[in-house]
Order: sequence, then C-alpha cells, then structure tokens
Amino acid sequence: MIKKYGGFYYVQDQHGQIFECRTRGKVKQDVLSGDRVLITESGPLKGAIEKVKDRLNQLDRPRVANVSLALVIMAQSEPIPSLMLLDRLLVSCQHHRIKPLIVLNKTDLDSNPASRAISLHYPSAGFIVIPASAETGEGIGDIQEQIIDEIAVLTGPSGAGKSSILNAVLQSHEAATQELSRRLRRGKHTTRHVELYPLKSGGWLVDTPGFSMLELPVMKRGELSGHYPEFAHYSGQCRFRNCLHYKENECGVRQALTEGQIIRSRYDNYVYMLEEILENERRYP
Ligand code: GDP
Ligand code: ZN
Repeated sequence: MIKKYGGFYYVQDQHGQIFECRTRGKVKQDVLSGDRVLITESGPLKGAIEKVKDRLNQLDRPRVANVSLALVIMAQSEPIPSLMLLDRLLVSCQHHRIKPLIVLNKTDLDSNPASRAISLHYPSAGFIVIPASAETGEGIGDIQEQIIDEIAVLTGPSGAGKSSILNAVLQSHEAATQELSRRLRRGKHTTRHVELYPLKSGGWLVDTPGFSMLELPVMKRGELSGHYPEFAHYSGQCRFRNCLHYKENECGVRQALTEGQIIRSRYDNYVYMLEEILENERRYP
C-alpha cells in the first residue's frame, strides 16, 4: 500500500499498476503505507484489501511499515557531520531491522576531519558510504541502485540535504525542493499520511524523513554491541561471553581498539550510549 487518501487505499501491484481500494470489514487493523496486502479486483483498477501480511517492522514517525533501508544523509559540510548523531542513527536503524546506507552529501563542498572519518573509516566498520551531491548529481544513480526492491526512508540532521536528495532521486519536475521542504516541515508538526513514491528504477522512497529523534530506542545492554558490525570480528576473543566491552578484562574489542582496528570515536560513542542504557535500566528497572 503506497498511500491513503480521501478514504481510499492506493495499492501498487507487481506490474506497477495502482489500484484504488477499500478495506473489507474483516480487516480490523490499521493499514499503513508500506503494508503488503492481498487484494481482490472489483473493477478496472479498483479493488478491496482482503488481508494485511505480517510486518517486518513499523515506524511511528513517520508512520510506515516494512521499511528495509534508511538513507542516512550527512552533509560533508554545512553542517559539519556529528559522528555521535551518525552512530546513534546507525544504531537506531539496525535496532528496527533497517539496513542503513550512509549518504555523504554536499561533496561539492570542502571536506573536514569528521567527513573524512566517514568516507575513510565507516566502510571498514561495515557500512556502505555513498559520496553524493544533490547539487552536481554525484552518487544519485548509486543511491537509486541501492533502493531497488527496498522501501527506503530518509534520515539525518536538518540542513544535510534530505529533501534535495529526495528530489534528485525522484527526478521529479513538479516536486520542486521548496514544495517538498514545505511538506517535510509540515510533516514534523502534524500527523499526515505518509506516501511511498515508487521509483522508475524500482523500490520506494518514503516522502517524510524519519528518526530525527536523538533518543536511543529502548534496548537491553547486551543488544547495543550487535549494532556495531565491526565488533563481531573481535568479540570472540573476549573472556566473558556476555562481555559488554566496557570495563571487563580480557576484552577482544578493547584490545582491537588499542591496536587501532576499531575507530576510537565509534567506541567512545558506544560507551556513551551504553552508559545511557545502563542508567535507564537503573532508573526504570
Ligand atoms: P534538509 O533539511 O535535510 O531537508 O536539507 P535541504 O534539502 O533543505 O537542504 C539544505 C540546504 O542545503 C539547501 O539550501 C540546499 O540547497 C543545500 N544543499 C542540498 N544539497 C546540496 C549539495 O549537494 N551541495 C550544496 N552545496 N548544497 C546543497
Ligand atoms: Zn569484550
């Protein structure tokens, strides 16, 4: 289901045709954009939703189901990227079982230590980094390729270029950046229906950015390290099976850190988030 509008649900089939649908009375749950549904045809391009398939995940802001990919947009400059925010967003995505794709936008501007850390070190930490520029068009094709077969959401700090990238990817002439920015801004304040834009090259883009929140999703202390792909190579060397790679002795991850195999800022941000989780566990046991 790609959008809900005027009491109808618009459902795109595997051939790309869009059906205007109602729901059957037996469908009790709220049908969200992103839901995979079974429909019966009731007329030319008209139908009825019979069943909603189980969801891979469900986001609340924006309210959308089955998001499989997140474009984590960071500007190379203006604003200079915050690695803390980036690491939080990467953890958030993975917690929701969404594959993050780092888009380093504004490559037409000068680089700096933070942006260089992203392009040099994040690929070896296990992430895909796409250098891009909504201004010059660099990387837009690479982003489109990654979206094929996925439902993708955009996230990142304000000003990084989310609406510009969205526009560049959609290659849409009627949706000028200004118009979209206005809608994106409005989206922050009101609950509006989320729309999935089908891409000609395949896949869908959610029209409203997600995860603008800085709060970490609620998780157990042991879960966090699972969202650090680079730790997996070294945690086998930890003495304790439930090692948090925090203050324990004989920790493979901290050993790798001292040997320079793990990026210091990534580890520091890990500790920062871990302490936040521990503090929450103390406060709300
Ligand atoms: P959002 O808040 O993340 O949606 O960011 P916008 O898409 O509104 O972009 C913020 C500002 O950055 C706007 O003035 C854009 O014109 C500018 N911008 C976006 N992409 C680029 C880029 O690749 N290069 C440059 N130089 N500016 C860009
Ligand atoms: Zn450890």
